[in-house]
Amino acid sequence: MSIASNIHAVQLTLPKHVKLVAVSKFHPVEALVEAYDAGMRVFGESKAQEIVGKYEVLPKDIEWHFIGHLQTNKVKYIAPFIHTIQSVDSFRLLQEINKQAVQNNRVIQVMLQIHIATEETKYGFDSSECETLLASSDFASFKNITVCGLMGMATNTSDEVQVEREFNTLHDLFNKIKAANFQDDTNFSALSMGMSDDYLLAVACGSTVVRVGSRLFGNR
Ligand SMILES: *Cc1c(COP(=O)(O)O)cnc(C)c1O
Repeated sequence: MSIASNIHAVQLTLPKHVKLVAVSKFHPVEALVEAYDAGMRVFGESKAQEIVGKYEVLPKDIEWHFIGHLQTNKVKYIAPFIHTIQSVDSFRLLQEINKQAVQNNRVIQVMLQIHIATEETKYGFDSSECETLLASSDFASFKNITVCGLMGMATNTSDEVQVEREFNTLHDLFNKIKAANFQDDTNFSALSMGMSDDYLLAVACGSTVVRVGSRLFGNR
């Protein structure tokens, strides 16, 4: 199957309100061009250097999402153009994103990454850290970021019951935070969960943004 037909096949399975982010990490520019020509305008990447290189050569109407662990010293490279940083996993990173957004005279959308998996290695806040952050006066002073939602990655397991439980946990936290901190803020609307192997389950659990890579572009 071609990249174009893969995109169309996945799009057909998604309800209208769910946004597809095409995760193109480690794939060459030609693959992104093929996806672009098939109508894809939202791409996700996980390395600063790689996303900058692709941004420079690809059309400027692409909406770029950063989805990997981001070191604070790399924020400056992506701040001029990044649309959404989905993987904010520390206060320091959020502070640096706001600082670089100010310097670029723009607003950067962010999602807070929540640790829902059992694996030790996955980055993210736990629920209480997230709630503390959002209640802090430091957070209230960040004027050049918009928090548009939460992102999470389920455990890499074939146990669907466990994955479903993790997605439901994140959805519950989303509802709680929305009610407590963003009740009248329509920007806070994104629940990013679901990848190639679990995106349909994620959508059934309330996901509004899916990050799909290998199902569109093949194996990395
Ligand atoms: C790589 C990656 C994806 C896409 O994974 P696939 O299994 O290829 O769909 C989604 N989210 C994050 C955070 C990733 O790092």
